[in-house]
Amino acid sequence: MKTIQVDLGDRSYPIHIGSCFSDDALIRSIPNTEVVVVTNETVAPLYADQVLASLKRDGRRLGQVVLPDGEAYKTLDTVNRIFTYLLEGNFSRKVALVALGGGVVGDMTGYAAACYQRGVDFYQIPTTLLSQVDSSVGGKTGVNHVLGKNMIGAFKQPKAVFIDPETLKTLPNRELSAGFAEVVKHGVIADATYFEHLEANVESILALESDALVQVIGRSCEIKAGVVAKDETEQGVRATLNFGHTFGHAIETTLGYGQWLHGEAVAVGMVMAADLSVRLGMIDNLLVERVKNLLAVAGLPIEAPSGMTQNQFSTAMKRDKKVDAGALRLVLLQSLGKALVTADYPQSSLDETLAEFCR
Ligand code: NAD
Ligand code: MG
Repeated sequence: MKTIQVDLGDRSYPIHIGSCFSDDALIRSIPNTEVVVVTNETVAPLYADQVLASLKRDGRRLGQVVLPDGEAYKTLDTVNRIFTYLLEGNFSRKVALVALGGGVVGDMTGYAAACYQRGVDFYQIPTTLLSQVDSSVGGKTGVNHVLGKNMIGAFKQPKAVFIDPETLKTLPNRELSAGFAEVVKHGVIADATYFEHLEANVESILALESDALVQVIGRSCEIKAGVVAKDETEQGVRATLNFGHTFGHAIETTLGYGQWLHGEAVAVGMVMAADLSVRLGMIDNLLVERVKNLLAVAGLPIEAPSGMTQNQFSTAMKRDKKVDAGALRLVLLQSLGKALVTADYPQSSLDETLAEFCR
């Protein structure tokens, strides 16, 4: 078992990575006398019985909420179902909510835990690669609104996170690759040695070899936790985690959410941000080729969707929330492992990148 500590003062918490299911002492040791597992209809048949069995203890009351599966259900209405379940069951302020599932379940459960009776304990058992390396670290929780994705939410740090990489064996390959895009991002923006490790070990990681996964999930959590510890509420360095995301969001919104997975759009977005960094003389083209190669080996796209126009990119990017007083702030690369957030670049260079990817 590997344990990463997220340092946030009195809200610090551990992320345990290893055989959390077969060796369930940690999950078992959640102290609350009331525990409700929140999951979805896809994950419940795979893992809920196992988690509930681990939590079973004399004097502890257990419950389970099974939500519908899908980003389309990441709404206040669905969170309200959690509240209704808790209130109908007279669950008290001592209840712990345990999110069992991917980022959608995690974000909604965390938000419910932030709100129920003004805040109850929250634990996470993330079961997708994306949720293991990204959404379960950092305390952002929330839901979508018809007028904007993730626009309603709260910061709510979990008490602990339990990651069992074995769960990835049931995850569809496309979802695995999408999560790997965020892993590549961590190497590119924060740790050149880690990026080299990923290049050398991508096959064993995607073949889900346990040791390789524990190491990668651990290092990615460490990197994200390190950034979050420096900047919990995204006033500065946390924004570097958006590397590739402004271009990626443009792809997601233009195609319509659900066409490309988030990680797929971010993969292309990272290539585009790296391309722009080359045009600005910040990095060498060789680095772009390495990033493309690693993403492609992982089955991720490295070219913009066919037919998407420069104009569609510009329009969508201008609407992105990172537009600050007229200037579009982008995350660019200074070198492998070093990113910076800036609005200080010639528009003509950005246009050249867009033109290059929209041929
Ligand atoms: P997801 O939660 O939709 O899971 C993807 C699919 O895999 C779903 O169908 C799910 O039911 C299924 N699934 C989950 N675990 C499985 C398993 N072990 N075996 C088989 N199927 C499994 O998607 P995701 O990529 O995990 O998360 C995306 C969400 O996370 C988005 O809503 C995004 O906004 C959010 N997010 C939040 C943060 C944050 O900081 N809070 C960061 C990044 C993303
Ligand atoms: Mg992302």
